[in-house]
Amino acid sequence: MNEYDSALIAGLLEGAGLRISKNIEEADFLFYNTCSVREKAEETAIAKISQSRPLKQKNKKLKVIVLGCMAKNKGEQLFEKLPFIDHVIGTDHYRQIPEIVLGAKANERVFTDFDEKENYDGTYAQIQNPFSTSITIQRGCNKRCSYCIVPYVRGNEKNKDPLDILAEVQMSVEKGISEITLLGQTVNAYKKDGETFASLLEKISEINGVKRIRFVSPHPRHYDDELISVLQSNSKICHHVHLPLQSGSDTILKKMRRQYTAEHFLSLIEALRSKDPFYAVTTDIISGFVGETDSDFEKTLEVVKQAQFDNAFMFIYSPRIGTESYLEKEILSQEQKLLRHQQLVEIQNQITSNRSQNMLGRVEEILVERPSSKDPREWMGKTDNFKKVIFKPTSTVSPGDYLTCKINEIRGWTLRGEVLS
Ligand code: SF4
Repeated sequence: MNEYDSALIAGLLEGAGLRISKNIEEADFLFYNTCSVREKAEETAIAKISQSRPLKQKNKKLKVIVLGCMAKNKGEQLFEKLPFIDHVIGTDHYRQIPEIVLGAKANERVFTDFDEKENYDGTYAQIQNPFSTSITIQRGCNKRCSYCIVPYVRGNEKNKDPLDILAEVQMSVEKGISEITLLGQTVNAYKKDGETFASLLEKISEINGVKRIRFVSPHPRHYDDELISVLQSNSKICHHVHLPLQSGSDTILKKMRRQYTAEHFLSLIEALRSKDPFYAVTTDIISGFVGETDSDFEKTLEVVKQAQFDNAFMFIYSPRIGTESYLEKEILSQEQKLLRHQQLVEIQNQITSNRSQNMLGRVEEILVERPSSKDPREWMGKTDNFKKVIFKPTSTVSPGDYLTCKINEIRGWTLRGEVLS
């Protein structure tokens, strides 16, 4: 989402007559778009921004601007840590950046209020790569998961005008893009002007030139029959979903305020895979959440075994200042949390390996992305269900090409394919 925002800001600045500087030493403005999801991300951003201080000493006209979630989260305080910065701009004020940098609002330093009306209708991001682009269709979040800072830095949910989204897709395909990824914190809760997420997906799929549609991240609570039916029947919507589980214990899910049960979560996977057992499901899981007992953790392991995720991002719980769960006393030591995490990783790695093995012998259409980083004679592309495939081209290939490959070898989690056509 931050990458999309950076591309959106680049588009706004370009529209105001600015251009991206190839050399940092020649830049008149430095923009740092920051993440706040963990404290570590903020520390990294502060360290990175600090590196621009010598540049500012050399070039007195240089302006350093901090954007994004950390800008909202820290606001004025950032001037104490980084006294040389010029502006702090939260996620609802990007439209004003040209005015800020070109002078009209240059005297104001902090822009961090939420703007309930700003959903960036009528603005379009620069294309992020030559064959695939992301489009933010929803900003902010109406959930209040007890461990999460996002709603406090991005505000309440705001959905983009469907006509604007369709226009952005149309403009993207005209530039050669064939894969569209829709972004939102709870993207499948999208609703605007009578359009549902399911109907929006259908409309996007009708645009000539769109070959693959992905979306991230859906929330388990916002699947209904209409959506499941579209996901199963529309051949342009990829058979991969990143569906965050977080915990397999209903007690912990309740404490997290996740608004679903483990049973409901598993029933969604069953529905998605009922017509295609290769439908890939990846997830996020937190081990050692505050109050998690041995039995809660066992339940998570049980759900992981039943769900057969294709892959998972697994995190050790770390309390985040400003969230509800930060105020609760932890009972688990870091060592206990780490042990649980290791156990989880071991089980999931085996499942990931099995799910990859199951792909052996399948014939898949892959979207070519880039030469392999290990051997430039080989290339990498992705299947519809988001598996990376390494292959040796039989003729010239370019990023964005579609090829048919037979998966004839699995090395670890890596699929290797032979080009058929
Ligand atoms: S759904 Fe929960 S975890 Fe996701 S962004 Fe919203 S509050 Fe955070």
